Amino acid sequence: MIYLDNNATTPVRKEVREAMLPYLTDEFGNPASKYYPQAIKAKEAIEEARFHVASLINATPEEVVFTAGAAEANNMIIKGIADFQKFYAPQSKNHIITSTVEHESVLNTCKFLNGEIYSNKDATLSFGGNKKIDRGYKVDFAPVNEYGQVMPETLASLLTDATSLVSLIWGNNEIGSLNDIDNLAKLCKDKNIYFHSDGTQVLGRVEVDVQKVPVDLLSFSAHKLNGPKGVGCAFLRTDDYGRRPKLTSLIHGGEQEYGLRAGTHSVHNIVGFGKAAELAKKELNSKVEKLTILEQQLKKGLLETIPEIEFIGDPINKVPGVLSFVINKEMFNNEVFIKKVSAQIAISAGSACTSGKPSHVLQAIERTNQTRSFIRLSIDLKTTAINDVIDIINTSL
Ligand code: PMP
Repeated sequence: MIYLDNNATTPVRKEVREAMLPYLTDEFGNPASKYYPQAIKAKEAIEEARFHVASLINATPEEVVFTAGAAEANNMIIKGIADFQKFYAPQSKNHIITSTVEHESVLNTCKFLNGEIYSNKDATLSFGGNKKIDRGYKVDFAPVNEYGQVMPETLASLLTDATSLVSLIWGNNEIGSLNDIDNLAKLCKDKNIYFHSDGTQVLGRVEVDVQKVPVDLLSFSAHKLNGPKGVGCAFLRTDDYGRRPKLTSLIHGGEQEYGLRAGTHSVHNIVGFGKAAELAKKELNSKVEKLTILEQQLKKGLLETIPEIEFIGDPINKVPGVLSFVINKEMFNNEVFIKKVSAQIAISAGSACTSGKPSHVLQAIERTNQTRSFIRLSIDLKTTAINDVIDIINTSL
């Protein structure tokens, strides 16, 4: 079995598992407890992990808030900033901008705020449908170009005096295109508007340096960089006085994580995230280089053997290792195909979070009629059997 679904999740590395194990056995203390060794060790382990996660993005440890994953970080940031800006800030602002190609955890959070939905089950793929209730927030879903990117001029035209937050994905989970986060964030910085990006798919695969890019808020998840599932973080940029952006709590309770995220720390998971981040930082440059070579080999081989293949997404500004394409062949059905090859290769028809539904990203890039032709391969450094992958795809079409 060749695993080609690294955008969905990645295997936990041996070094990560080994770093986690003590915190599942002897070092079981609650880091919020005091004085005795298990508690102190757990607290120290969390702070060490925070240091490594912060270093990976060139932030300070105080700017990293651990969560149970990127979906939670996205909810915490978007609901938290939107609510605070509307109800507690001196000048009430109620306008949020996101895009049509975001991950569901951003899209549905925004649809909740604008009153379109109250649960994930009723989240339709349509935008701006009949509003169910008025929560007092207005959301614009920015349109994208053919590669699924928000153009800076599109964002500029949507910003208003009431805009409190802009949330735009860094690297698209379905088609791998990168947004021009630097310029998009600059537009918001000039107007004193909070800028958030979901960086889940880029951490460990693209340089993320918060000293270079003026983002205020970011979301990440450990399981996309060979860490454990169920842990992630939010980056909240502090100002010159060490103050974080103010946000309404998502989870009310204890004062863990500077009072920003209540709940006993998942110490083993956080330690695993820290180890994964430490390794990712050391290996980033060589990983990008090797992934790019493997990706190019695979793309070339597929292009040479499959005349009906059409690659989509930005061919240059992209997350390394992600190849998305459509098969322009009558009667081709991606679900049937994925099932057919599933004993040999693990691939997907888009986001694991929307499996079964036609991709909203393909709809947004005006390929609605190709949602059943869409395939995503996301490779890692272990994907060296390139010719086998090409053969399997080719013979199963
Ligand atoms: N954002 C993006 C872009 C993702 O790909 C994912 C994972 N599919 C998430 C958010 C959610 O991350 P998590 O599984 O950690 O909640």
